[in-house]
Amino acid sequence: MQIPFVDLKAQYLSIKSEIDVAIQYILENANFIGGEQVQSFETAFASYIGTKHCIACANGTDSIEILLQAMGIKAGDEVLVPAISWISTSESVSNIGAVPIFVDVDDFFVINVDLIENKITEKTKAIIPVHLYGHPADMPKIMKIAQKYDLKVLEDCAQAHGAEINGRKIGTWGDCASFSFYPGKNLGAYGDAGAMLTNNEKIAEKARRIANHGQLQKHDHQIEGRNSRLDTIQAAILNTKLKYIEKWTEDRIKNAVMYSDFLNETDILCPKIKTDYKHVFHLYVIRSNRRDGLQSYLHEKGIQTAIHYPIALPFLPCYKKYGFIKTDFPIASLFQNEILSLPMYAELKQEQIQYIADSIIKF
Ligand SMILES: *Cc1c(COP(=O)(O)O)cnc(C)c1O
Repeated sequence: MQIPFVDLKAQYLSIKSEIDVAIQYILENANFIGGEQVQSFETAFASYIGTKHCIACANGTDSIEILLQAMGIKAGDEVLVPAISWISTSESVSNIGAVPIFVDVDDFFVINVDLIENKITEKTKAIIPVHLYGHPADMPKIMKIAQKYDLKVLEDCAQAHGAEINGRKIGTWGDCASFSFYPGKNLGAYGDAGAMLTNNEKIAEKARRIANHGQLQKHDHQIEGRNSRLDTIQAAILNTKLKYIEKWTEDRIKNAVMYSDFLNETDILCPKIKTDYKHVFHLYVIRSNRRDGLQSYLHEKGIQTAIHYPIALPFLPCYKKYGFIKTDFPIASLFQNEILSLPMYAELKQEQIQYIADSIIKF
């Protein structure tokens, strides 16, 4: 059996006729930037997550960077980020001249709230919790700390469309939230796409200006901005796919439950979920102290896996200048050697999950 890590084609085929019609419509109207499709996606996505504003933009990385600027984060400010994430989280901080301050993670792979206060200085202005792999960061606790120290909170929701804490969606807890619709994300476009969500009028207006050359109306350049827009074709694709996100999420959760049941009797550490948290399983990440051997074995069996991420952020070559050592981030440095992401998507079949689990048990 050959099992790819993700199977975007299977998802496309399941909604092919609808997608083809949506794309054809844009081609025939020859309106490729902005327009009704972009507006209706913004309205629909804001309503799905439960915020007042949604500003579509070119990709998830831009959405973080623009929101930091829209919140008034400036060069020299310090922004707390988790030690494990995709580089976008910390890179966006550096790209506006601010300094990413790494905080080690906890057992749920998210920022360890007990370590946050130790990292706060006079220069700290914001926290970017990342809902990594689809498991929410501890937003109630993070918001309490933010209030105490007057910090802004930007939720990085790139891996957690539809995740919840106590029935309230992530993306509604902080001052604002960034989303990515990179093709492999839980809600994915057929190219790059992103969005910025907030209930805050001022942040929304500033973000909208920055993403479109400083203008709200054409030629009204109150500030300088940049070009970070969502293409109309991508908006049409996202509008079509948004209708299925709940079903796809339920299927991901079912698949995760199956994995965990099948692997129950092994010494593999399966992902844990906090009580009253909804994990949306962008990734199903196990831990094994024989990770590399396990990965090669699964590869021989035709099973593609991945590592998210093989080097934790503080230890990347680009952050060598900070001189971190393993003991600065003991959990992240342990996890980077143990984590393995198994195939995870809505279209995975029970036989495939069974085969993957059996192969792990044989190993
Ligand atoms: C994918 C991702 C991003 C950035 O998204 P792009 O659309 O690829 O720019 C940011 N943060 C995290 C945690 C991600 O996984």
